[in-house]
Amino acid sequence: MTTVSRGITSGATGLGRSPLPAVPIPGTRSALRMPAAPSFAASGLAAPALRRMPGLAFGRQSLRPLAAAAPAVAAPSAPAVAVPEKAHGFTLQRQQYIKEYGSTMVLYKHDKTGAELISVLNGDENKTFGVVFRTPVSDSTGIPHILEHSVLCGSRKYPIKEPFVELMKSSLNTFLNAFTYPDRTCYPVASTNLQDFYNLVDVYLDAVFHPRCVSDVKVFEQEGWHLEADNKEEPLSFKGVVFNEMKGVYSSPDSLFYRCVQQSLFPDNTYRHDSGGDPEVIPDLTFQAFQQFHAQYYHPSNAKFWFYGDDEPTKRLALLDSFLNEFEARPVDSAVETQKLLHKPRSVTEYYAAGDGEEGEQKAYVGTSWVLSDTPLDVETELALGFLDYLLLGTPAAPLRKALNDSRLGDAVIGGGVDDELKQPCFTLGLKGVDAESRDKVEALILTKLEELAQTGFSASAIEAAVNTIEFSLRENNTGSFPRGLSLMLRAVGAWIYDRDPFTQMQWEDALKSFKAKLSSGSDVFGPLIRRFLLDNPHRVTVALLPDPAKAAATEAKERARLDAVRGAMGEQQVEEVVANTAALKELQETPDPPEALACIPALQLSDIPPTITKVPTATRALADGATLLTHDLFTNDVLYLEAAFDMRPVPSRLLPLVPLFCRSLTQMGTAKESFVELTERIGRKTGGISVYPFTSAVRGKADPIAYVMVRGKAMGGKAADMLELMSDVLLTARLDDRQRFTQMVAETKAGMESGIISGGHGYAAKRLSAQRGLAGWLSETMGGLSYLEFIRGLAKRIESDDGWQAVQADLEAIRTALLQRKGALVNMTADSSTLASAEGAVEAFLGALPAASAGAASCWAQGLLLPRASEALTVPTQVNYVAKGANLYEDAGYQLDGSAYVVEKYLGNTWLWDRVRVVGGAYGGFCQFDSHSGMFQYLSYRDPNLLDTIEAYDGSAEYLRGLDLNKDELTKAIIGTMGDIDSYQLPDAKGYSAMVRHMLGVSDEERQMRREQILATSNKDFKTFADAIECVRGPAGRVVAVTNADKAKAVLDEKPGFWDVKRVL
Ligand SMILES: [Zn+2]
Repeated sequence: MTTVSRGITSGATGLGRSPLPAVPIPGTRSALRMPAAPSFAASGLAAPALRRMPGLAFGRQSLRPLAAAAPAVAAPSAPAVAVPEKAHGFTLQRQQYIKEYGSTMVLYKHDKTGAELISVLNGDENKTFGVVFRTPVSDSTGIPHILEHSVLCGSRKYPIKEPFVELMKSSLNTFLNAFTYPDRTCYPVASTNLQDFYNLVDVYLDAVFHPRCVSDVKVFEQEGWHLEADNKEEPLSFKGVVFNEMKGVYSSPDSLFYRCVQQSLFPDNTYRHDSGGDPEVIPDLTFQAFQQFHAQYYHPSNAKFWFYGDDEPTKRLALLDSFLNEFEARPVDSAVETQKLLHKPRSVTEYYAAGDGEEGEQKAYVGTSWVLSDTPLDVETELALGFLDYLLLGTPAAPLRKALNDSRLGDAVIGGGVDDELKQPCFTLGLKGVDAESRDKVEALILTKLEELAQTGFSASAIEAAVNTIEFSLRENNTGSFPRGLSLMLRAVGAWIYDRDPFTQMQWEDALKSFKAKLSSGSDVFGPLIRRFLLDNPHRVTVALLPDPAKAAATEAKERARLDAVRGAMGEQQVEEVVANTAALKELQETPDPPEALACIPALQLSDIPPTITKVPTATRALADGATLLTHDLFTNDVLYLEAAFDMRPVPSRLLPLVPLFCRSLTQMGTAKESFVELTERIGRKTGGISVYPFTSAVRGKADPIAYVMVRGKAMGGKAADMLELMSDVLLTARLDDRQRFTQMVAETKAGMESGIISGGHGYAAKRLSAQRGLAGWLSETMGGLSYLEFIRGLAKRIESDDGWQAVQADLEAIRTALLQRKGALVNMTADSSTLASAEGAVEAFLGALPAASAGAASCWAQGLLLPRASEALTVPTQVNYVAKGANLYEDAGYQLDGSAYVVEKYLGNTWLWDRVRVVGGAYGGFCQFDSHSGMFQYLSYRDPNLLDTIEAYDGSAEYLRGLDLNKDELTKAIIGTMGDIDSYQLPDAKGYSAMVRHMLGVSDEERQMRREQILATSNKDFKTFADAIECVRGPAGRVVAVTNADKAKAVLDEKPGFWDVKRVL
């Protein structure tokens, strides 16, 4: 859930605006099952990063969500679907077949309460439900955010501490979370299992309408804020999950920038506040205001409901009515006021807490933004704005983005163009890493370039590439692991909650057709748009966010002073009350729900779980010179998904940190026969995107990892040969000599990593630990962790000199020479059989053009490269910590992998660690991850106020597991919850990709079946066996790495001399 800012996000949800979710979605978790499959966009801008279309709820970082839902199976022509006109208290308002998504959409109104429901009928087995309330705010106390967390903490029918956590443990959900936006709160769930789906819906409906949190102040204190002191002598502190989550958000300059943009753009309506909560304001919130907010807005008359998928439509109505019929209709004033457009451009200056080192010297963020309109736009204008946005910024070769990059005024582009998630669309663009003296030049550059583009327009080839890319994405409708039904819901809600027609949002086909006709008629479509919405629009704000090395200390001192003042004003008795309340809250938090209470959460039976694995059809063919072709015959709606993997082991170790930039360079410098802009346009015209990235993983039982450079692409079946020709041109003839572009990429990488360590330090800490224990971990640190950042900083200096650049260029060529060979290459294709058959010839031609074998050695890198085993504090300016502790269970405990490990790992994360690190500790997240390939087991915390207390909680894990004696019900729930992860829903491209990764790792279907049986047979004994294994993490083998601030790192040393080495990062 979040509040308004967009931009950098965890990415895991795909939500550009990063609504703050109820539970963090840490990017490292996937290590448990499989090395993560990066989305096309996650691997950088190599692929034309798809820009958002108007009406879509997502940012441009991700290709996936651009297109919203279509059923998994292509629907034929409009089916005649019979739905009731009147049933269970609902009356049909409108019904329409939406050909774009092969779905019938029906709008109902609940007679008694006026609640609205969109019921979507199609063949998608990934059923989705959601309820959305309009929740505008009048201050920055974070009420809707705290409420979003709190309603999931027990309800009338589910009177336990956290039904939400019980569902995480025991359901087969394909999606379970909640989001707070600046003006609304969403509660979505999804599942492919019908009974599971109904269970999720029931728990969520009871949670929103009858939550315990409105009568029990303890929930509010836990999730929101409370005063804490363990004894009368201890100074007071503020604690609370949301309080700390938001401290993490406010520590990230990227987040602060977007917050500041929103608040400056909307000085007069609800968007001027922070619905997520400003940590300085959250403690002003009273329980009474919190209760009133729920009573006012969480009412059926203020609710929009959504059902989607292949479940029975009449049952949806019955289910909802059983909750709604006890309410009466009443007016709820929750409309979001419109911000009137202002007549004069403004500028705003704000400050963020920066480090004081010269290393990674922090600079300004400068961006210019507009509110585009104060009246709703028609579909064709929205579509046109989407195209304009793509043309201006959609790829690194797009002229406005390129102008910003080429200007060297800053390190990386921020903003992202059109943002239409709020009531009024906005446009934001700028740079970060800007020198103070250049801050005024950013706005001038943007305006000058826009003026130029308004006059000259875009080239026909750029327009053709944009049309193909956007159309491809709309038709492919690949939402990745995000349910298609949820993607479509967020899209509909973007109009619906502002009382606009939600169906229009879905119907892009006709608007696209007429827009394309207009484009081909040659009329000047974009010039007038640029003038109307940007150049001639005076509602413009330029925000400068400047570094302030004194701010962190000042913020902390302010909070301290406030707490001391509160303490000073208290009498003896009041202090005793705080101490007593602290103890009472902890006791409550540490007392588990009794098993009989937990039984209220409906659960499936083991018999609901298929006993055998689902196999992905795979044909393997050996090609000449030791290359391999894998094909997966799956229905993909005529799209061909293709990966070409090249063994990285011939690349000498000293060149490895250059590999990620080598990969990006391949598509960003042009080829022998075309410029960077022309190459980008050809990729856009012929394919749905091409990306190149390194891929590594440990292999169980082997010291040597697998390591590949992966070239990934997708195209319509008929364009397979074009795509392979592109890949071939890129690999063999890409120019690697564009110093200016390379310098930009280095600056961008540096800026991205420096923000990343502040907003997601747990990933860096985890990589650091893994790099001490195995080559795969070392590779990942070298190409994406702190070592990589250090390398990049050195590289930025090296390429300033001509000699330095010459040497780097030679190194890039050396990587290409070592890498390119048929030997050991693997091509993986996913499509239907006829597309596969017709593409095979092109694959052979593609491989035939490569050298048979490279000169590089095929042996792996030396074990001596690993980082020394040490505990470390990595210091950055931040108000929160990320604490990791780990060891290698195979090496340090002699553990032998058993499927039950997945069950125990998940259970531990959802019980002990959740309770101690999040609920009691006040961190936003606490969890563990076991990489079954390498044997690394790690505890991780996320936006954590504590350090040593968290480690103490980690160290109690083994004892906790040993003390467990789960009854049959609890065991079954734990097993089923794990199966939900193992059998997670996948679109066809993901199935083919996973099968390829299993092939690379040597994981056979027999082994998968064996693990499945082990998971299903998990017993109490397995919990004890795993407890013994993780004991080594507490013992001498365990190491700690934390991202924290310098003062806290030192405080730990004062308490425990020699505990860790301190490394200043920022
Ligand atoms: Zn939250």
